[in-house]
Amino acid sequence: MTEADQQIFDEDKGAYLPVFSRYKIVLDHGEGAYAYDIDGNKYLDFLGGIAVNVLGHGYAPLVKAISEQAGKMIHCSNLYYTKVQADAAAKLVKLSGLGKAFFGNSGAEANEGAIKVARKYAHQTDPEKSTILTAWNSFHGRTIATLTATGQTHYHEGFGPLPDGFDYVHYNDLAELESKMNDKTCAVMLETIQGEGGVYTPAPGYLEGVRKLCDKYHALLIFDEIQAGIGRSGKFFAYEKYGVKPDIVTLAKGLAGGVPIGAFITTNEAAAAMKPGDHGTTFGGNPLACAAANVVLDTVPKADFLAHVESVGSYFKAKLLKLQEKYPSLIKEVRGTGLILGAELTIPGRDIVNNVLAKGAIINCTAGNVLRFIPPLIITEEQVDEVVSMIDDVLPKYC
Ligand SMILES: *Cc1c(COP(=O)(O)O)cnc(C)c1O
Repeated sequence: MTEADQQIFDEDKGAYLPVFSRYKIVLDHGEGAYAYDIDGNKYLDFLGGIAVNVLGHGYAPLVKAISEQAGKMIHCSNLYYTKVQADAAAKLVKLSGLGKAFFGNSGAEANEGAIKVARKYAHQTDPEKSTILTAWNSFHGRTIATLTATGQTHYHEGFGPLPDGFDYVHYNDLAELESKMNDKTCAVMLETIQGEGGVYTPAPGYLEGVRKLCDKYHALLIFDEIQAGIGRSGKFFAYEKYGVKPDIVTLAKGLAGGVPIGAFITTNEAAAAMKPGDHGTTFGGNPLACAAANVVLDTVPKADFLAHVESVGSYFKAKLLKLQEKYPSLIKEVRGTGLILGAELTIPGRDIVNNVLAKGAIINCTAGNVLRFIPPLIITEEQVDEVVSMIDDVLPKYC
C-alpha cells in the first residue's frame, strides 16, 4: 500500500457513504480479464465488476461504439425515438421470443418495472390479485420494493414499513410453492439461478413445476436474470438451459458490458396492461447505454461465443471439483453452471479472498462462505488455471 492509496482511502472515508466493506486496493484501468491498480499491480479479474464486464475490460468494439455514440449524442429524452434503442429492444424481443422490452438504469429498476407490469396486469382481472411470491435467499435489488422482494431479512431490517403483497417460499421446494399459491397470486419471481445467495441452480423439474403452477393460477412467472443472463450460463438466457419460458425476464449487469442499464422484457399480453404514463424513465435506455448494449447483443448470443462459455465453464468447474477433492475439510460443495460458479466453504471466505487478492486475482465471497466466480465470459482455460492455482496456494493455511 502506497501513500497515494492511503490518500484515496482517507478522502473516501471523509466523503463516501460507508455502505461497502471494501478491499484495500484502488483500481485504475483494465485490459481483457485483467484489472490494474494505481500502483501498477495486475489482477486477474474473476469478479468482472460483479458479472458486469462480460466482454472484459477495454473490449475494442465496445469502446469504439461508446466513443462514437458519445460524440454523436450521449442522451436524449425518451419522448423521442432513437435507432440504437429500437435496435436494442428488437434484439431482446427476438432473443427472448417475448413481446416488448423496456430499459432502465439498473437491475433494481428492471425488477421494479417487472413488478409494476405484473401488478397492473393482474389488477385488470382482480384488484386483490396482488401477492408476489419470491424465494428465500434471493436477491432482487435495493429499492424499497425490490429489497422487500429479496428474501433475506437482514436486508429488510431498519427500512420498514415495507410494501405489502410479498411472501416467500424456499427455492427448489415445489410443494411449498403450491401450498402458497391461489387466485390472489399475482406473480412468482425467481432468479433462474440464485447468485448473491450462494449460487444455487434449479433442481431438475423445479422450474417446469413453477411454470405449471403459474399457469394454473394465472400468475405471471418472472425470471430475474440480472446476474445469470447475458450468456453467463452458456445460453443467452439461463431459462433456455432449463427449457422453461417466463412471462417477464429482467436483465441488467452484463447487458451493456459495464455501461449502466437494466431491462425487462414481457409478453405482449402483459405489456398491453401498460398505457402511456404508467411507467417511464429519464435516463433509461439512452443512446449511450443502448449503443453499448447493441455490441453485447451482437456478440454474446453467437453460437461460438456461448460454446466458449460452456466449455471454459465446464473446465473451471472440473478444476474446482478437483480442489474439493484435495481440500474436503474446507470445500463443502461446488455448484453452478457455465461461468456462474460457487464453492461453498466450511469457513468464512473473506480472508481467503484477501489472500488470493494479494497473490494477484480478484475473486468474491458471497453469503459469507461461498466463493463465487462470475468472471468476464472471455476468460481462457489458462486464466482459470492461474486463479485455481492461486487458491490452491492459499488454502493449506486454513486446513
Ligand atoms: C445485482 C442484482 C440485482 C440488482 O441490480 P442493481 O443493478 O444493483 O440494482 C437484482 N437481481 C439480481 C439477481 C442481481 O444479481
